[in-house]
Amino acid sequence: MDIQVLRRLDEKNKANADETRALLDEHGVRSVNMMGSPGCGKTALLERILPLLQPTLRCAVLEGDLFTTQDAERVAALGTRVIQLETQGSCHLDANLVQRGVRELPLGECDLLFVENVGNLVCPANFDVGEHARMAVVSVTEGHDKPSKYPLMFSRADAVVITKLDLLEHTDFDLQAALAGIRQYNEHAPVFQTSTRDDNFDDLVGWLTGLCGQGRRHGGA
Ligand code: MG
Ligand code: ZN
Repeated sequence: MDIQVLRRLDEKNKANADETRALLDEHGVRSVNMMGSPGCGKTALLERILPLLQPTLRCAVLEGDLFTTQDAERVAALGTRVIQLETQGSCHLDANLVQRGVRELPLGECDLLFVENVGNLVCPANFDVGEHARMAVVSVTEGHDKPSKYPLMFSRADAVVITKLDLLEHTDFDLQAALAGIRQYNEHAPVFQTSTRDDNFDDLVGWLTGLCGQGRRHGGA
């Protein structure tokens, strides 16, 4: 007698993600899953780093949002190839939607793919979307307690970017406490301190460039 097997949804998600990663690997494309709260500055960060990356790397962006194309338009304005992934209200990207986006891209003309996830510190961390690396973004205006309050997001990050450092003096954000919160769950991820008002993106750009010079470094969750 055949036994009926019901697969957990996350296993199906993982299978889709592995398939996407294999497709990207085949074309030598590295993917970065950018995650963080709404308003933490994910799109603003892309607006600053894409012009620095594009002279040496061919970049593309999959822009996850609930409904609008506003962020995709900002990225397209930089001359970057962008596809909007509209979740129709869902609070995270899953591997299936990202795979559909990846299949629309000319992968042979792409070195580095950013997947800007839906603004959310919680469930995006649970969904492997076929990324090679995970980037957690947290802003000074959110408070230094965020890394310790959302351990899943930060423990699984391959890099953490702190944004809006120019606002530090106007907030109660304790940088040392934030760094300690990150290290509590993640001993190794590099932490990049940035502000879109300053030119302090060199280390982050170097890390991203290095990612493209390496083999697969992250198998996803
Ligand atoms: Mg955005
Ligand atoms: Zn969600």
